Amino acid sequence: MLPPPHGGRLIDRVLSEPERTRRESEVASLPRLHPSEDELFDLEKIAVGAYSPLTGFMDSRELESVVGRGRLPNDLPWSMPILLTPRSREDRETAGRLGAGESVALLDGAERMVGLLSFRERFTLDRTRIARSIFGTVDPAHPNVADLLAGGETAIAGTVELVRPLQLAARDLEMGPREVREEFARRGWSSVAAYQCRNPPHTAHEYLQRITLERPDVDGLFVHPVVGRLKSGDYRPEVILAAYQALLSAYYPPDRVLLASLSIAMRYAGPKAALFLAIVRKNFGCGLYIVGRDQAGVGAYYPPFAAHAIFDEFDIGVVPLRYGETFHCRRCGGMASPKTCAHPAEDRVATSQTRIRQALRDGSPLPPEIIRPEVARVLSGPSVLLP
Ligand SMILES: [Zn+2]
Repeated sequence: MLPPPHGGRLIDRVLSEPERTRRESEVASLPRLHPSEDELFDLEKIAVGAYSPLTGFMDSRELESVVGRGRLPNDLPWSMPILLTPRSREDRETAGRLGAGESVALLDGAERMVGLLSFRERFTLDRTRIARSIFGTVDPAHPNVADLLAGGETAIAGTVELVRPLQLAARDLEMGPREVREEFARRGWSSVAAYQCRNPPHTAHEYLQRITLERPDVDGLFVHPVVGRLKSGDYRPEVILAAYQALLSAYYPPDRVLLASLSIAMRYAGPKAALFLAIVRKNFGCGLYIVGRDQAGVGAYYPPFAAHAIFDEFDIGVVPLRYGETFHCRRCGGMASPKTCAHPAEDRVATSQTRIRQALRDGSPLPPEIIRPEVARVLSGPSVLLP
């Protein structure tokens, strides 16, 4: 049995075709807001149920509960604020005039109506307190803290509906939780492990995927890279997906692995991000979740195993598969870890992303101990990193 969605019910706030046409014809008469790219990603994910049980952007009570104790007001664990914070002067003025229950059109950068918000509350954010609680730092060098501090100071809460899907770079591989659950069922999978990633796969990633696929309690692996807005210096979304497609088609049995993209802004919040990303995958039907070393970390803000420990503090109804450091060992002749290899450091090859980037920069060959040649070929193309 696949796990039930978080909170028990998969949220569906996507408008039907006739309803969509009707609401689109009203757009000229509605107040209009222009959410940021990140907020539009969140809008779509709320509407398709990826963020179940959320039905809209958080109000002050929900936010306070999440910031203060890592739970929604009904006690369900939830670790990430999901906020709508108007930022242009025009949008802030529009937001300032909204009355309770009023419908607001949410437009994308091309002025197309993407969603509707039923306005509930306007409130001021304590951004320093949010940064400290969620990201564990107020350092503006942290990418999400920088976003938070640069964003609006006033948040707008209310339930949302999706009028039309976003135009995404990775639309072909983007699937909603309903579609993914159906695909799992079609494949006869009842126990699925989710693999969170935001980088092209190297041999240590592959090793964790393989040892997970060897578990007798796992029917299949759901590889679900976050390819929404990443940060400068990260790989481009299409590169990450092409690299995974190269690995999957060359090495894995096709009936044991499913690849889909997750277009949301990456939260580099270490433990709280790991918990959030696991809750999202539970909504997609995954009962097991792979947590590597320093998952969703950035810089040195989080202890490498904090993302493991948070699953002891919060039971989200998902089995965390906690893995530590792995490496290629020349003496063992393959991937190994301190649990399986007795050899000294000089026999071990670290398979870090830093090392791969260094080799790419220097134009030196990428050794097969750290990356598959099929994946290396994808990475040796032009401009693979975000500026
Ligand atoms: Zn060894």
